[in-house]
Amino acid sequence: MSDEKIREEKVVTTGPTVSSMFAPDQENLVDPGYKTDNDFERCIQCGYCRNVCRVYSITFSERDYAGGRNRILKALSKKEIDFDKEEIIPSIYQCMLCGHCRTVCPVGIDLLEVFQNYRRTVVRKGVLPEKLGILKNSILTNKNPFLESGTDRYNWCDSETCKEGYDAYQRGVERTRKIESGELKPSDIDEHLVGYFVGCTSSYRNNELSTATCRILEKLGVKFILFPDEYCCGSVMFRTGLEDDAVQLVKYNTEMIKKLGVNELVFSCAGCFSTFTTEYPQFVGELGFELSHLVQFVPKIVKQKGLKIRYTKRTKEDPMIITYHDPCHLGRYCGVYDEPRELMNMIEGVKFIEMKHNREMSLCCGAGGGVRALYGEISVNIASNRLDETVACWEDINEDRLKEAIESDAEVLVSACVFCKNNLHLAASRTKPDLPVIDLSMILEDCEFY
Ligand code: SF4
Ligand code: SF4
Repeated sequence: MSDEKIREEKVVTTGPTVSSMFAPDQENLVDPGYKTDNDFERCIQCGYCRNVCRVYSITFSERDYAGGRNRILKALSKKEIDFDKEEIIPSIYQCMLCGHCRTVCPVGIDLLEVFQNYRRTVVRKGVLPEKLGILKNSILTNKNPFLESGTDRYNWCDSETCKEGYDAYQRGVERTRKIESGELKPSDIDEHLVGYFVGCTSSYRNNELSTATCRILEKLGVKFILFPDEYCCGSVMFRTGLEDDAVQLVKYNTEMIKKLGVNELVFSCAGCFSTFTTEYPQFVGELGFELSHLVQFVPKIVKQKGLKIRYTKRTKEDPMIITYHDPCHLGRYCGVYDEPRELMNMIEGVKFIEMKHNREMSLCCGAGGGVRALYGEISVNIASNRLDETVACWEDINEDRLKEAIESDAEVLVSACVFCKNNLHLAASRTKPDLPVIDLSMILEDCEFY
């Protein structure tokens, strides 16, 4: 058997044994079509979800995994316990909404739906952590959660720092003007028009992602625009129980995009992508334009145009060895597992190796569901555990013939979500400063498409 084959077989793809008994289809106990607001009632307290919950692995508190939270919900609904704000808030918000519990639940409870319902209900009762109240006000006022001015959204793409973004922004301004003046109608446009929805985090905090994305689209020869009037997608509001306030953003963004006659919307942010994919259609029906994350869009265009990809900083003989952290919002939320792997395997000069826990059994980075904002230390501890696994992955790889490449300072942890990247990077800066953590777009930016 080849070394390549041996390495593939050593990769564990199903996670802990106890979970893989059921994951991921849960055929044995699921009653198809069962769905009520009280889905938590069906919890049988089997505890499978406790084995995979990263919060529980840090706090060891019964209220911090799905089964324990279901017990609280049952007790509340039967009025066996009082709704005590101080006690209940941590049981609601100390959860990343990563969906790992949903993957392993043998009963098939949609735990993300249960927990988001729970959050929405308590917010309607007027209970909201102070930090989330500030975030809500900023989104409603400034259209971003960072207390930044709405007019500063495109400061990252002036003609010197990112010419490709600047030109796309100008195209967006011009198209908006023509459509609003009646000079052009969306139905008049016969080309396949791509819009890049940048999102708040890449606009205000991590513009290396938005800059890289614009450069990649330009290199691929894609005609695209930016949206001068883009608002926050509402992801953080849906996750934190503020759905009633998010609906106005859903309606606004959908109309704003449709009005310009865009055929396909591309995202570099996994959170925006999953919100458009899973939440938007619930409120506005069919969107009328396609949705693609960059890790789907790039391999699609490369195949359509018959291109190849070469990473310019390394060679086929001396590749950069990378491993991939599946973001919850791309993977468990939207089922995007194959395309990023296909993409990484297309790149000459890069060698992709799986981590032990991957795809639907990937471990959460600790950033989602408001945990990063509300419980920073828990979030970073969870991210550190994920880094330990990355290093373990390299140690394992070290045993085989890739040892030489790895010892040449090649190990890099890659993700396709800005929140995962930021949280893992923060943990790395504290505990493993030699481990680079980057977004996949950073590698693509240094690629040739030919
Ligand atoms: S969604 Fe993730 S963090 Fe929340 S209870 Fe489930 S496994 Fe734990
Ligand atoms: S895996 Fe499902 S049924 Fe079992 S304890 Fe967790 S939520 Fe309840």
